[in-house]
Amino acid sequence: MRQSQLLANTLREAPAEAEVASHRLLLRAGYIRQLAAGIYTYLPLGLRVLRNVERVLREEMDRAGAQELLMPALQPAELWQESGRYNAYGPELIRLADRHQREFVLGPTHEEVITKLMKNEINSYRKLPVTLYQIQTKFRDERRPRSGLLRGREFLMKDAYSFDISWEGLDQSYQAMFGAYQRIFDRCGLNFRAVEADAGSIGGEGSTHEFMALADIGEDTIAVCSQCGYAANLEKASSVVNQVGSGSNVDRPMSEKIHTPGVHTIEHLAQYLHIRPRDIMKTLIYLADGNPIAVLVRGDYEINEIKVKNALGVDTLELADAETTAAVTQASVGFAGPIGLSIPLHIDETIISMEWGVAGANESEFHLRHVVPGRDFIVARVGDFHIVKEGEVCARCETGKLRFVQGIEVGHVFKLGTKYSEALGARYLDANGSEQLMIMGCYGIGVSRLVSAVVEQHCDERGMVWPTAIAPYQVHLIPISSKDTTQTKLANDMYDAFKQRGVEVLLDDREERAGVKFNDSDLIGLPVRIVVGKDAVHGKVEYVDRRSNEKQLLSLDEALSRISASTL
Ligand code: ATP
Ligand code: MG
Repeated sequence: MRQSQLLANTLREAPAEAEVASHRLLLRAGYIRQLAAGIYTYLPLGLRVLRNVERVLREEMDRAGAQELLMPALQPAELWQESGRYNAYGPELIRLADRHQREFVLGPTHEEVITKLMKNEINSYRKLPVTLYQIQTKFRDERRPRSGLLRGREFLMKDAYSFDISWEGLDQSYQAMFGAYQRIFDRCGLNFRAVEADAGSIGGEGSTHEFMALADIGEDTIAVCSQCGYAANLEKASSVVNQVGSGSNVDRPMSEKIHTPGVHTIEHLAQYLHIRPRDIMKTLIYLADGNPIAVLVRGDYEINEIKVKNALGVDTLELADAETTAAVTQASVGFAGPIGLSIPLHIDETIISMEWGVAGANESEFHLRHVVPGRDFIVARVGDFHIVKEGEVCARCETGKLRFVQGIEVGHVFKLGTKYSEALGARYLDANGSEQLMIMGCYGIGVSRLVSAVVEQHCDERGMVWPTAIAPYQVHLIPISSKDTTQTKLANDMYDAFKQRGVEVLLDDREERAGVKFNDSDLIGLPVRIVVGKDAVHGKVEYVDRRSNEKQLLSLDEALSRISASTL
């Protein structure tokens, strides 16, 4: 490609709202342009990267035995009502009506469509197992579309769905996708980690993994054990709870009321009573599917709402409003406690580690001290409802310490089981002629997000540094002076030779100063730069590795064979 004809205007500055490196660089180097919040055009360079990622995806999905299809983005709302997700999906689901006022949605994912399809296409166990995939545009009205391609409202996803006749079969399909994902991310040059993730209320132990690209700007926190291989999303991670003491509570005086006017927070209460946050029992009132419940956690911990939600098996969990709290506790917010509450009490295991503590009195402006779990309130419904802290001991090996790293979720593999086949009636006849539900898995990769994640890991202060496998072109060929006929001729000869050998090459034939060309070249980030300069008269060119900036003077033939070798 001749750069003079390429639609790729480079920008000196990125717009102020571009906060992360990948967003800034993809805009500045002319790979993408924003149309509206979270909605982007892929310019020719950006599209070439996307197509390269797709090629890797297709090769690995096909190798793993999956078949490609393409499903519609526009989906009838009834399908979502049938699966029960029309309301549950919430405001992220984009809803619209056609001219006859029939309701539709723009697909944020395709479990409904594919399950319906399989219900109609597959009737016998002989046609199973099967794994299907597509690479397709998804729509999600994200609350905060941000960071360019990392969180879009319209984005490209590779989604796959497996259908099996047994749980062992599902295990195999899952493993096949897991392996394919590892190869895909390896080939894309990503530093990633597969971590245990929250499976919601349907999945069992270890039945879902997220693939995380490690990056400081990642929105997800991952807890990694220093000793064993344990790595889990913070949403799911558990640790050995630090025992505060194990003495007897027999002599502990009966709980007594203390006046704590205007003290609403744990920090304030600790200060006010000269105690530590860990001496306080924090009680929060939630609405679980609309019903009030209380969750108790030690004052130096935060509640992990995802764990609570899963334990309860509810669709929604939100902090109760002041009115509900007042009705339930007879007190204003900040004074809830476990004693005398008539709603279900869910007790985090950190509470069990306390001999006694200070808790809200369920009376405005009052707390209780010397509250003893088990003596003063019934200890039932105990579980792990807290967010683990860095440095705590790993619950898996009980020796290593948990360290936190940030990650970008680039992929997700998930054992769905029969949730959708049941809701939508996807059954087949087994060998005995009786009807069985198909057992499903689903597997997603954020294709456009992956492009950004790669840039986050492969860039420097000068621009992007593309891994060979997905670079938009392999070679940036730059004659220093467009007026020098020797240089121009050599550059053109090389351009033709590269093209003949199938090497993807971008020739900077623009009438620009060398400095401008080099800056743009750094920004665009092709793996190899070949500079045709003053040594052109001796038939020599400068070969520059974008990553290391290592330079070498080579003949045309040497440069050709070097590049052919590196792009194989
Ligand atoms: P997140 O927690 O980041 O919102 P998710 O759990 O909603 O992700 P999935 O429903 O599992 O994501 O979708 C599969 C993959 O699609 C994700 O692993 C991610 O790589 C990608 N993805 C999800 N939402 C977006 C988005 N708004 N923009 C770009 N990619 C996305
Ligand atoms: Mg999401």
